[in-house]
Amino acid sequence: MGQVELIGVNKCYEQVSVLDGIDLDIEMGELLVLVGPSGCGKSTLLRSIAGLETIDRGEVRINGRVVAAPGTFVPPRDRDVAMVFQNYALYPHMTVAENLGFGLRMRRVARAVREAKVHDMAKLLGLEALLGRKPAQLSGGQQQRVAVGRALVRDPQVFLLDEPLSNLDTELRNQTRGELKRLHQRLQTTMVYVTHDQVEAMTLADRIVVLDRGRIQQVGTPQNIYQNPASTMVAQFMGNPPMNLFELVRRERVWTLLDEPLALPEPLRLLLDELRGERVLLGVRPEHLNFPSHPGQPTVLFRVEIIEPLGNETVVQGRVGASEVSLRLDGATPVQSGECLSVGLDLGAAVLFEPEAGARIHAQS
Ligand code: ADP
Ligand code: MG
Repeated sequence: MGQVELIGVNKCYEQVSVLDGIDLDIEMGELLVLVGPSGCGKSTLLRSIAGLETIDRGEVRINGRVVAAPGTFVPPRDRDVAMVFQNYALYPHMTVAENLGFGLRMRRVARAVREAKVHDMAKLLGLEALLGRKPAQLSGGQQQRVAVGRALVRDPQVFLLDEPLSNLDTELRNQTRGELKRLHQRLQTTMVYVTHDQVEAMTLADRIVVLDRGRIQQVGTPQNIYQNPASTMVAQFMGNPPMNLFELVRRERVWTLLDEPLALPEPLRLLLDELRGERVLLGVRPEHLNFPSHPGQPTVLFRVEIIEPLGNETVVQGRVGASEVSLRLDGATPVQSGECLSVGLDLGAAVLFEPEAGARIHAQS
C-alpha cells in the first residue's frame, strides 16, 4: 500500500496550463476518485502520478520518495504503480492466464511464484474457469476483469484507473463497479480512480476530488461534497439533476426571490445580513423542493415541462420564473406537463453562493 503526495503540481501543453497548482494527499489504502468534466485534466493528473507525463512545476511523491519534480523523473516501471485505461488492450493471442502473468514474466518472476499469483488473482476475480480462453472468447466485463487483474497481480503500491468502465454497457458497468469496490475492500490497495461520471464517483469513493479546468475545486467524502459543495460548479456537477440555483436580490434590506420577500431560516438570514452585495445565489437540492408544500414553507410557482418517472420517484424539470429548476418527487405524486405547481422550499439544507465567481458563502466564524 502506498501513499501519494502532490505538491503544487503544474503542467502545460504548449503554453496552455492543464494542471494548475494541484496540492493533494492520497492516503494509504484509500479509494480516491478524481471527477470532473471532460478535458479538465483528470487523465493528465493520473498520468503524472504514473510517470507517463512529466510535470513542469511542483513535486509528486510516492511513499515519501520524490518521483517527479523539475530535474527529477523516476520512470514508470520504478514507481511501483499499475494503471488500467479505458481502452485496456489485452494481448489477443495470449490466454487469460498468460495475460494475467505477462507483467510478472517481464519482471522475471519465477514461474512457480507467477503461477501461484495468477491463480490467486483469478480466484479473487472469478476468472478461474476462463484461464485457458483468449480475450476474443470473453465478454466485455470479463475482459475488463482480466485487465484489472493483470495490473493488480503485480501487487502495486498504487493502483491507477482511468475511466476503466466507460466501454461497458450500463448494467455491466454497475456490476463491475460493485466488484471493484469489493475488491478494494478486500485488498485495501491505494486506488486512484478517474471518471467523468458523478454517480460512479459518489458510489465508489472514500473521498472525491472535483477537478475543473486544471484546478481542484473540492476534496471531501461523497456526502460532504453533496451536502456542502464549495462552489456552484461542484453543486451543479455533483448530483443529478443538479442543485437548483435561485437568484436572491436585496431590496431595501429585504431579500427577495422573483420580487417577493423570502422568509429565510435564521442561519441563512444571519449570513445574508453580513453580506455587502445586493445579489446572491441560493442553492437548493431537487429533493428539497416539496410538492405538495409543507405548512409554513415559503413557496414558488413552478411550471412543469418534462416529467421523468423513475418508479420510486419522479424527476420533474420545469421553470421558476425564467430559471430552469428540477424537483424530485415521490413516484406516486400526480403531475402533468404544462401545469403550474405551488412548490415549497425546504431551506434547512440550502446553501449560498456568490453570484459571479460562484464561490460558497460561509459563516464568518
Ligand atoms: P480529462 O482526462 O479530464 O478529459 P485530459 O487530462 O486528457 O482531460 O486533458 C486535459 C487538457 O489537456 C485537455 O484540454 C486536452 O485537450 C489537453 N491535452 C491532453 N493531452 C495533450 C497533449 N498531449 N498535447 C496537448 N494538449 C493535451
Ligand atoms: Mg481522460
